[in-house]
Amino acid sequence: MSIKVYPNGGLLVEIKGRKILLDPTSLPSEKPDAVFVSHAHSDHYNFKTLRIMKGIPKVMSQATWELIDPKRRLDNVTIVESGDSVEVAGLAMEVHEAGHVIGSLQLLIDAGLRMVYTGDFNLDRRLVLKSAPILKTDVLVIDSTYGHPRYTFPPRAQLYREILRTVRAFLEENKGVALATRVLGTGQEVTALLSLVAKVVPFVDRRVAEKNRVYEKHGEILGSYVVNTSAPPRSAAAVVPLSARYCNSIPCTGWATNSGFPLSSHAGFTDLIKYVLESEANEVFAFWGFAEYFADVLRRELGVHAYAYQH
Ligand SMILES: [Zn+2]
Repeated sequence: MSIKVYPNGGLLVEIKGRKILLDPTSLPSEKPDAVFVSHAHSDHYNFKTLRIMKGIPKVMSQATWELIDPKRRLDNVTIVESGDSVEVAGLAMEVHEAGHVIGSLQLLIDAGLRMVYTGDFNLDRRLVLKSAPILKTDVLVIDSTYGHPRYTFPPRAQLYREILRTVRAFLEENKGVALATRVLGTGQEVTALLSLVAKVVPFVDRRVAEKNRVYEKHGEILGSYVVNTSAPPRSAAAVVPLSARYCNSIPCTGWATNSGFPLSSHAGFTDLIKYVLESEANEVFAFWGFAEYFADVLRRELGVHAYAYQH
């Protein structure tokens, strides 16, 4: 028996005569038996595509469903939470934390051969969410967004210390500072860092605050913050989207390796390598970002059977 993985509307996995579509962003040319949505970032699902696929089971967490379908218009949704085992389309599936954003999950299908799809994931201990466990598998489908050594991130605790030192320096001089984050992901982590650790009450952009509420509804503690509907006050600490342009705005994203803080909800390069090695996978499929480069490193330096696909 073998497992095939290839791009077709998302990632199409053929296993035991079944087709499972992972993170659909367009309609595939073949009808899948089931769909899995790993998390609610818009590069991992397309709502119209999901709507069209009537009658097909759609597996996702409750938080993901709330975020992508606030009016609950999708049919045949199978809600799963970390640690659950379910049978869908005749296949045994398990889901586990991915540690990326609220509701993000990894998928494990055990059909004699095991296949793991990490989705976007993070192995760090963070102020929010639980970290992703490394799952043992035969075939690994891994997010390789930061699959280049340039994106080897400092330890989380060090990043937290540096952010706090910078924020305090601004505030001591009575200057404002805006930390620019992903609306869903680092926005909630930075809210918690400022509120719970720095003990300041940050002004949080309304778009970030909307997602904060979903985290809080699902048990995450972010502390006190003020929801901000316009430019933040001049002498306060603020959490704003990466797209916002304010003076004294500091980007917090994995891409900020030269300026700002490389605080990411994704795994960096060394954690991607760690996952591949500890998963003991015989075959690795890398998707997104530096997929080609990462697969090449796996083949040449680690002797792993690795393949790359750009999304
Ligand atoms: Zn994501």
